[in-house]
Amino acid sequence: MTDCTIIGGGPAGLNATLVLGRARRKVILVDSNDARNKVTSASHGFVTRDGVTPSEFRELAHQEFSHYPSISTVEDKVIEIIKKADGFTIKTELGKEWATRKIILATGMKEKFPNIPNLRNFYGKSIFNCPYCDGWELRDKPLALFGEVDYTFHTAQILRNWSQDLVVFTNGEELTKNHEKKIEELNLRVETSPIRLLTGKDGMLQKVELENGLVIERVGGFITPELVQASELGTMLGVKLNETGGYHSDEVGNTKITGLFVAGEASNVYPAQLIIAAASGVETAMAVNVELIHDGILGSEI
Ligand SMILES: Cc1cc2nc3c(=O)[nH]c(=O)nc-3n(C[C@H](O)[C@H](O)[C@H](O)COP(=O)(O)OP(=O)(O)OC[C@H]3O[C@@H](n4cnc5c(N)ncnc54)[C@H](O)[C@@H]3O)c2cc1C
Repeated sequence: MTDCTIIGGGPAGLNATLVLGRARRKVILVDSNDARNKVTSASHGFVTRDGVTPSEFRELAHQEFSHYPSISTVEDKVIEIIKKADGFTIKTELGKEWATRKIILATGMKEKFPNIPNLRNFYGKSIFNCPYCDGWELRDKPLALFGEVDYTFHTAQILRNWSQDLVVFTNGEELTKNHEKKIEELNLRVETSPIRLLTGKDGMLQKVELENGLVIERVGGFITPELVQASELGTMLGVKLNETGGYHSDEVGNTKITGLFVAGEASNVYPAQLIIAAASGVETAMAVNVELIHDGILGSEI
């Protein structure tokens, strides 16, 4: 019987694994290695790790795990969780199956992109979603802003801190009187025509081509896509979603299902930052350890 299975090896799952390994817990980290930030070549803003690649971040964590013999890691995808009286049974895509007392779901979120042709070719290379993550690299450059109009205006206000050369593309979404007031207040350039194509080279944006024939040169930009759960495992077990789309839990990740915890973006989407997801993994791991102690199960002798 494994003490805890951590599903998802992004910063939340990685930090939860480290804390539980150090608490002498027999843990298995299962990861399908398909994180949201896999598309980008550098992560920023995590102190001591500024500029690290997402894969380097993971490799460093796995090197640290090698100091703790009670940690096992598997590259696989969990496809089913069965609730039992004393815990859960985990089933994976590669046909593995094991029993676990507790689970931490650290499965993250996925983007639901608006209908903009070619957008995915540029996402993570020159079009990003968070100015705190990638605004510095695009400072003072001609930028495009895409996404749901209300939220885009909010982003435009913040983004002007990094570059004032902004064009908001509504991609055909109509403007309301309120929007027009906001545009005037912010002194923004707004293009409402649907986008025909984004063009550029090797993921680096060069032009935004509109259905009305306008072609506007931009070297990068930001988008605010809707985020949805990357995995349905929580829903399959009956966990409801909160107002931001995260799995409903208390402040340390405890869900309504005994023994099932949730950490990182899967529980609390905003602000979407590596260090915040990692911190959530730490808090949740501590809560799991305390629950195991209350259940009368002490750290293994490994
Ligand atoms: C383009 C881009 C750039 C970003 N840049 C930055 C940055 O510079 N700085 C910053 O702080 N943040 C950045 N972020 C945000 C950051 O990536 C997220 O906040 C963070 O990765 C969330 O961590 P997490 O552990 O909750 O989820 P994730 O990192 O998404 O990890 C979830 C993991 O769970 C796995 N998984 C899902 N379902 C299953 C399953 N059923 N079985 C097994 N494994 C499963 C996935 O494969 C994935 O590895 C960026 C995001 C994007 C999209």
